[in-house]
Amino acid sequence: MYYSSTRDSSIRLTASEAVLKGLSDDGGLFVPSEFPTLPVSLEELADMDYKETAFAVMKGYLDDYTEDELKDCIDKAYDSKFDTEEIVPMAEADKAYYLELFHGPTIAFKDMALSILPHLLTTAVKKNRSDKEVVILTATSGDTGKAALAGFADVPGTRIIVFYPKDGVSNVQKLQMVTQNGNNTFVVGVDGNFDDCQSEVKAIFGDADLRKKMADAGFAFSSANSMNIGRLVPQIAYYVFAYGRLVKNGRIRPGDEINVCVPTGNFGNILAAFFAKRSGLPIKTFICASNDNKVLFDFFKTGVYDKNRQFILTDSPSMDILISSNLERLIYMSAGCDAQKNKKLMESLAKEGKYEITADMKEFMDSFVGEYADWAESSGKIRSLYENTGYIIDTHTAVAAAAYDKYVHDTGDKTVTVIASTASPFKFARSVLKAIDKKYEDGEDFELINILSEKANVDIPPAIEEIRDAKVIHDTVCKREGMRDYVLNNMGLR
Ligand SMILES: *Cc1c(COP(=O)(O)O)cnc(C)c1O
Repeated sequence: MYYSSTRDSSIRLTASEAVLKGLSDDGGLFVPSEFPTLPVSLEELADMDYKETAFAVMKGYLDDYTEDELKDCIDKAYDSKFDTEEIVPMAEADKAYYLELFHGPTIAFKDMALSILPHLLTTAVKKNRSDKEVVILTATSGDTGKAALAGFADVPGTRIIVFYPKDGVSNVQKLQMVTQNGNNTFVVGVDGNFDDCQSEVKAIFGDADLRKKMADAGFAFSSANSMNIGRLVPQIAYYVFAYGRLVKNGRIRPGDEINVCVPTGNFGNILAAFFAKRSGLPIKTFICASNDNKVLFDFFKTGVYDKNRQFILTDSPSMDILISSNLERLIYMSAGCDAQKNKKLMESLAKEGKYEITADMKEFMDSFVGEYADWAESSGKIRSLYENTGYIIDTHTAVAAAAYDKYVHDTGDKTVTVIASTASPFKFARSVLKAIDKKYEDGEDFELINILSEKANVDIPPAIEEIRDAKVIHDTVCKREGMRDYVLNNMGLR
């Protein structure tokens, strides 16, 4: 097995080389040449803990890592940084299963992959005898930034530069990033939206002259975005783990199909579920939930991807995205792994902002259903779930939960469904409380956090306590056109 680029089929890398590079030089994403099947039966999953499950899943995909290397990475990642021994608990509320992916150090699901990526990457550096300092270049819609900073802070041989849309993240998200410690961490606010940040980061990655210059100076880029397979692969594990828990708790029998419903932005999380299916997990339907930026909803309905529309700032900022990078991997697979065909569509996206897929390609993805929920629907869901069950979900999870209700209403499908719960409500306390009662709209951030703790009957997570009095360390701001210069300056290349 090897990794190829979605835009150039002549490329063949080992898994560790792909982790190290992050993004292919041609602008494409790395994809496995074949999908490994799970090495254990669905019955056996019921008795495996999170680390065992992660190992079983990851060793097929990261096949040039030795078993010891992989186990070591997994041990270092899924430890007491998580606030529960289970790592990923599952809550049952109102006929759905909420897979709580936010118990890591920065209280969003990005921790699931970003607590292991630094270990996978430093192991890859050793394996490939690279002598370059790795520069992690990251665009964030709010949560990747902090999770990547926390993961890479003071990791020898690396430095990390994070670009975030300066007016497009929640106050807590911003505070988490700009107070980050570590001599190798750099955080920059960009006068633009997430798509601006991500497109410019991709452009910097794709600059061959710059890569040469950097190599001469002893640097190499990598990515902490879900473009990196080192992020995608660890995310497959929690869907497999969720299935095992459902079997263990007698909710399904081994072999039964489940649905997954995922609040989607860059299409990484839901694509990991699709990879789980390719590896043998019985998933029937992938419910892809969008907020008002519903490019993906329209795409799954019509087969036309069209980003030419207004970018809307919502209360689920980590999903405010019009160019979902990881969709490219699904497009490539749906085109029969034809890199040329995929490349043409991506060029059309870059030039005209849109492309249309063929009927065959659409059929390939018929297990995906697009749904969306606006603020009225998602806030209504937060409120009703709280009033009926006492369970409080964050604004992103609420988009998925409301979309799931619409899906059930439209289809009558009663299949057991796992909803990816992607962030702690504490990260978005203002919006969550506003959904429960309008009177909370104007409160002070940390006051609201105290109120939320009382209402949810949940302790305030350390990730929030940490930023209460923390000093702002990073106050750099630039325009999109300034990002490249910032990166050059950072490496002393100007
Ligand atoms: C990143 C993020 C998402 C979107 O996930 P993708 O993998 O980009 O589709 C959803 N919710 C939260 C809280 C996030 O941080």
